[in-house]
Amino acid sequence: MILRSRPESDELLKMRALNTRMELTQEEKFHYFNLEKGYEGEVQFDRKAEVLQEERYIINDLLLKINNSYFQIDSMLISQEVIRLLDVKNFEGDFCIEKDRFFLVKSGREYKNPIDQLNKCASQFRQLLQDLKLNYLVEATTIFINPEFNLYNAQVDHPIILPNQVNRFLKGINDTSSRLNDGHKKLAQQLLSLHQTKNPFTQVPNYQFEQLKKDIYCKFCRSFLLSLQNHLFVCGKCGGHETVEDVILRNVREFQLLFPERKITTTNIYEWCNVDLTKKTFCRVLKKNFQSFGKTSDSYYI
Ligand SMILES: [Zn+2]
Repeated sequence: MILRSRPESDELLKMRALNTRMELTQEEKFHYFNLEKGYEGEVQFDRKAEVLQEERYIINDLLLKINNSYFQIDSMLISQEVIRLLDVKNFEGDFCIEKDRFFLVKSGREYKNPIDQLNKCASQFRQLLQDLKLNYLVEATTIFINPEFNLYNAQVDHPIILPNQVNRFLKGINDTSSRLNDGHKKLAQQLLSLHQTKNPFTQVPNYQFEQLKKDIYCKFCRSFLLSLQNHLFVCGKCGGHETVEDVILRNVREFQLLFPERKITTTNIYEWCNVDLTKKTFCRVLKKNFQSFGKTSDSYYI
């Protein structure tokens, strides 16, 4: 049973919008690319994990805090006998692990050692359980999900699952029966209540309203080549289409995400979309979908 799903993070959504509406630096693009890739890997794992049966709780993307230090758990699997912490990595290419070093063979580019990261996370989680006076067996595993990933020098005692082992790993879990009781339920509820909503790890570049491109873009391919045909916006690049109302609402959500301090007003959204629609159309869509406050001339929407 999935107790916490895996929505796209605000950080990913912001970076995606910024990548479309401004020029990111190479470093920012690299960070954005890694976020997309990481999320894609986690979703792939979730799909595979759908085979899991028996009574188990799955809690995704949990951010916990102990002694002022935060740690993130991609997937937590609570079974009768054990709590599994799963760290999903979507690395691609030939990597090598040597003592503390974890690097791409071809370029030598070094990455944070995933086993060190995993051990640190598991130790923090065990401390948290101790603080809560709970006694459960904890097992932590790094799952490399990408079929194009290869690891040289992996040792049999490394807590890792390689791409060609993922299905067997899940089957192994499935082969163990699991019955959950009230204790497990209480544990899951406690962990969910400790989830931190403000993620200190997020890295979004500074941006100003003035510097972002104001226009509407295709939901599917992110091209700005949209034209209005019979009340639908049609993409000149991929042919995808979306109703006027959906396009406006999608842009309101993006505006809210990027500028939470700004009010949703007809003028703001009109300016943000900068498209050949009348203010009246924006006003109609906002009125229909939100509650309006204030006088007609300066009303805003929530
Ligand atoms: Zn398109």
